[in-house]
Amino acid sequence: MTLSYQHTIAAPVAISGIGLHTGVTVNLRLCPARANAGIVFKRTDLEGFTIEAHSRYTARVSYATSLMRKGVLISTTEHLLSALAGLNIDNVTVELDNLELPILDGSALPFVELLRKAGVRRQRARRTYVKVLRAIEVVEGAKRLAVYPSESFQITYKILFPHPLIGEQTLEFVSNPDDYISGIAPARTFGFIEEVEMLRKSGLIRGGSLENAVVLTREGVLNPEGLRFSDEFCRHKVLDLMGDLALLGRPLLGHVVAERAGHAMHALLVSRLLQDRRAWTLATETEARVFSSPQAPSEVPAAIL
Ligand SMILES: [Zn+2]
Repeated sequence: MTLSYQHTIAAPVAISGIGLHTGVTVNLRLCPARANAGIVFKRTDLEGFTIEAHSRYTARVSYATSLMRKGVLISTTEHLLSALAGLNIDNVTVELDNLELPILDGSALPFVELLRKAGVRRQRARRTYVKVLRAIEVVEGAKRLAVYPSESFQITYKILFPHPLIGEQTLEFVSNPDDYISGIAPARTFGFIEEVEMLRKSGLIRGGSLENAVVLTREGVLNPEGLRFSDEFCRHKVLDLMGDLALLGRPLLGHVVAERAGHAMHALLVSRLLQDRRAWTLATETEARVFSSPQAPSEVPAAIL
């Protein structure tokens, strides 16, 4: 299912929390934005300095996706961007008074709840999609990430970790808000206990705790409440990928296939796709349908018959 019109939120909403890597409290406010504005971050602590959620500003991508413009950073953008993409919200101004978005419970569910509290408003402008015409592939050893032409936005994600609770997990997800809310948004960030000390020493995950991440031990998880899904890890990878794909600046019509990828590869696929102008076109919902099925009259909307 694709949407014809752009959407913003109906009213401003706010939430506060600590940043996963900085450990610093940040106040976040989401405000409605005009059509074609896209998602724009605004540092209220830096005289309203703005950075668009677009691949051209992608900065660090090791343990989270950060954006940078003129030396100003917005860090850990992926969970909020994922929630916005999952709920088909195109235009929002994201005000924050520090450099890192709050981690909240480590999933996108608190952002989904916030967006539902705000309500969604349809706008007059049509939605334009990045419609994939040719496959683009990024391969690094056993890691692979590719996007193929498709009439809907879908993801196939496969992960492989030698751990008794993970092993091999594969998830197929055809994007729609209901399934996103129930099956993707609640999946939390995860990490291995061996990594925790190393990350702390590198000045990362200062705000990390069992309140906002699943921590894996050799045999199981440290979190007393256990997992939200048996394949919560793979679901979180889909969540992250959706947030990173939002840096295309527009919704995607394509099938993304990932094997053991991560933020760095997600970012690479987005920039490779945008750079290859023969691999995609901009299309409204109507154009995309005509493009995909010129032979199928039943698919051609009444307006052009
Ligand atoms: Zn994540």
